[in-house]
Amino acid sequence: MEGSLFDSIEFVKGVGPKLAAQFAKRGLATFEDALFYLPRGFEDRTRKVALSDLQAGERCLVEGEIESVRWIGGRFRSRFEATLKDESKDSLTLHWFHPHPGLKNQFKKGARVAVFGEVTEFHGRFQMNHPEFVERSAESSIGVLPIYVSPEGLSQKVVRKVVRGGAERAMKLIRDVLPEELQKRLGLSSLCDAFRTFHFPSHLPLKDEINSARRRLVFEEFFIFHLGLLLNRRDRSIAPSLRDSTGLEQFIAGLPFKLTRDQQRAIQEIQFDLSETRPMARLLQADVGSGKTVVALSAARLSAMNGYQTAILAPTEVLARQHFQTATALMPGVNVVFMVSETAASVKDSVKSGKAQVVVGTHAVIQDAVEFLKLGLVIIDEQHRFGVRQRIQLLEKGNGKTPHLLMMTATPIPRTLSLTLYGDLNLTLMKEKPPGRGSIKTRFLSERERPRLLERIRSIVDAGRQVYVIYPLVEESEKVDLRSASTMFEALSCHFSRVALVHGRMKSDEKATVLEAFRRNEVSILVSTTVVEVGIDVPNATLMVIEHANRLGLSQLHQLRGRVGRGSMESECILVAERLSERLKVLLETDDGFAIAEADLKLRGSGEFVGTRQSGLSGFRLGDLALDEELLILAHAEAAQIVRDDPDLSKSENARLRSAVQGCWREKITFLNGG
Ligand code: ADP
Ligand code: MG
Repeated sequence: MEGSLFDSIEFVKGVGPKLAAQFAKRGLATFEDALFYLPRGFEDRTRKVALSDLQAGERCLVEGEIESVRWIGGRFRSRFEATLKDESKDSLTLHWFHPHPGLKNQFKKGARVAVFGEVTEFHGRFQMNHPEFVERSAESSIGVLPIYVSPEGLSQKVVRKVVRGGAERAMKLIRDVLPEELQKRLGLSSLCDAFRTFHFPSHLPLKDEINSARRRLVFEEFFIFHLGLLLNRRDRSIAPSLRDSTGLEQFIAGLPFKLTRDQQRAIQEIQFDLSETRPMARLLQADVGSGKTVVALSAARLSAMNGYQTAILAPTEVLARQHFQTATALMPGVNVVFMVSETAASVKDSVKSGKAQVVVGTHAVIQDAVEFLKLGLVIIDEQHRFGVRQRIQLLEKGNGKTPHLLMMTATPIPRTLSLTLYGDLNLTLMKEKPPGRGSIKTRFLSERERPRLLERIRSIVDAGRQVYVIYPLVEESEKVDLRSASTMFEALSCHFSRVALVHGRMKSDEKATVLEAFRRNEVSILVSTTVVEVGIDVPNATLMVIEHANRLGLSQLHQLRGRVGRGSMESECILVAERLSERLKVLLETDDGFAIAEADLKLRGSGEFVGTRQSGLSGFRLGDLALDEELLILAHAEAAQIVRDDPDLSKSENARLRSAVQGCWREKITFLNGG
């Protein structure tokens, strides 16, 4: 019965392999996962409603005597009806379509039953469709029940069985790892109590109770994470000193443009860092279109000149390919290779042998199978899209020496956050944009005004310019959205000749072919799902249309908009949505990426109090970097305090903490493993 936290939920009573597989797809595979599968709300089944007091739309518990039952046959439209009567003398009909034969036994004439369900009104009478049978004796179906997000087609009853079954087993296995003193001082409840509030509440939890339970869980998550970071600090580690800067001037002179002052300053700062033996950790933060790429490439050039390899990591294949092309073009004489998941073994060999000097790719570069001979520099583009763990994985590839690290972002992160997440990170800001850029006008277009869109596209295409039409895909309705992108593509194809469609489901080489055609202006209108979000650079594209603009975050929209306005021509971005929301207004009003990011954070608010945000980009299970900043800082301070007193967590009172950190950072912390 004991088992381990990492046992499959398959072993929960009544679950079995098939159901377990369905949940595993949703990230719920083990007892431990069940604990973190937090409900999206609660249902109060403690209050029974008299049939005379029913209200349509209400979900409630009713109890009474079965007055009559009716089984309506028919192969395709079978139905079961039971009419319930209670002390109020009112009655309610319960309906089941395609009923399970077992219902006949549960609902017999004259029996007393309790059911729970939603009251609906039909021809002036109340009824309940598919109510849940409530066994008065079974604790699992009365009281206050959590409501979970359910995988396609599964009832709450089944989801509850799986999640609560797993959580119950897990709760027997978990132990508090936070030092008692800390727990007391911060007023944190025990771990079990926190999970109990979510999965087995004794009463309908108040907002405060939910918040404090969540706070307990998020604190621990951040705290353990920070301990790992602190223990993994490589203050004393040594990086290669990349001192030789003889080809740098030549590289800069070979560029097709003159660097901005900000770019020059950024390159100088990086050049200085690289010459030191202390590993560089620098964040280059600049709005889209500021020209971060050449700054990064100058660092790669320096590294190659000094006989070291550079890994350049991009979040998408499209962006990686574009960096690869830029790198190849701007660094003649340097051997640049491209690495994505399907890369041939020969490329890996060239990285291992040191023949490849610069490796540009996606997360494929992080794989264990990829070995470097002399990795001196790691560059991560759009760093917020990679988890901290991935970053550390990459830095471990340095073969004894620690590579320098340069991260780039267009999305500003608050200083406090970056401090706690990345430790002592140096910041380079570039505010200046390359000269000669046309401005971008942003407009809003309501659905009603849609017909005007075609005219606008026509005038751009006639002038020899290019157009993006973007469809953001939402996970739940991916198929539908893809269809609307295809429909748009077909509609535009009736009016224009050079239209292409690109979407995430296409093979990567197909995608690349289409994007390449767009880059060469063989395609004038590109209908796309958000694959062009980051990085793609086509100065001749001067119109961007974003459909369903309300679905995207402000920073995302701002990034997308940055795809136009790359040349000297005037550009335009048209946001299409049902209505002009407060959020969208921000974009019409400002072009300042920093202001937009701030507004985004504010407007996101804390709407959802609980939720199963499966480990998002941050890599946290529950913690949200935007909402929980305060907790993150607190956890950081507390973790630092512990490490100050007990630098490698060897005191006996910290033994549990130590193994929790090890578990969380599984095999990534060589220091803790004694390696
Ligand atoms: P970011 O990554 O910061 O969004 P990119 O590095 O993709 O921006 O640069 C955007 C465009 O600006 C590219 O076409 C690049 O060649 C061009 N560019 C970069 N620096 C300059 C400069 N100093 N002068 C003119 N154009 C530049
Ligand atoms: Mg970029």
